[in-house]
Amino acid sequence: MEILMLGTAAAEAWPAPFCLCDACEKARKLGGKNIRTRPGALIDDDLKIDFGPDTVVQLIREGRHLRNLKTILFTHQHSDHFVPSELLWAKFPFTRTEPPAGSIELWGNRFVHEGIRDEFAKKQQHKLDYVMKEFAPGDHFTTAAGDEVWAMPADHVEGASVLRIRRKGKTIFWGHDSGIYPAATLDRLSDGIALDAALFDCTYGSERGGKGHLGFETVVEMAGELRNRKAITDRTKLVATHFSHGGKWMHDELVDRFKPHGIDVAYDGMIINV
Ligand SMILES: [Zn+2]
Ligand SMILES: [Zn+2]
Ligand SMILES: [Zn+2]
Repeated sequence: MEILMLGTAAAEAWPAPFCLCDACEKARKLGGKNIRTRPGALIDDDLKIDFGPDTVVQLIREGRHLRNLKTILFTHQHSDHFVPSELLWAKFPFTRTEPPAGSIELWGNRFVHEGIRDEFAKKQQHKLDYVMKEFAPGDHFTTAAGDEVWAMPADHVEGASVLRIRRKGKTIFWGHDSGIYPAATLDRLSDGIALDAALFDCTYGSERGGKGHLGFETVVEMAGELRNRKAITDRTKLVATHFSHGGKWMHDELVDRFKPHGIDVAYDGMIINV
């Protein structure tokens, strides 16, 4: 399985549009892996995690398309992960080759579903022909494409989930957005399934974090907790992502801090092979 990290920033991106803090100014000057767009990933070429405001530009940047998309999994309804108006582009006349919308499953919580329904209700000429699938934190389901998903409660916003996804015999943990994982989530992750990859929310960077989002210290703690519970083994790829300029550390500083803990630092365009 190939995980293409399309965006690795928190909500306002990094550099943030209105911000002249040191971290934003440094990112503007240094560029490269310090430039982070809003979060989301493409797995192989048919599974999309979230669909944020930068998705179209990210696909252009990577030379990729969504023609083969079968499933979108929405972690939650925040606008860095979910922009319902962008879902229109799968439909004629915005796509001129056979539109795939009718065969794409949209999995999200009830707020995501309400947002999509409201958006399509405003645009009456466009029928909502996606396959709408609702889930709630705690649910376990299999998509039409065959991905097995455990949605687990996040410490974030009402209805938010972190996801364990099993695809083609590999299992990954999509751990953002969330602060310290609730007990039910840690218990679910202790059921004996070893992870091939685990991704963590590191919004707070140099700050401790823990409430709503994690930071460096709490990412290391959560990775340790999942190791104790045997979800993480020596074979698990560990990746921190979803960084805010408020966390201050630039990409190279993050790499230096996380290295002793065996955790990689995500950047836009990173490919994780599991
Ligand atoms: Zn977010
Ligand atoms: Zn800033
Ligand atoms: Zn969020």
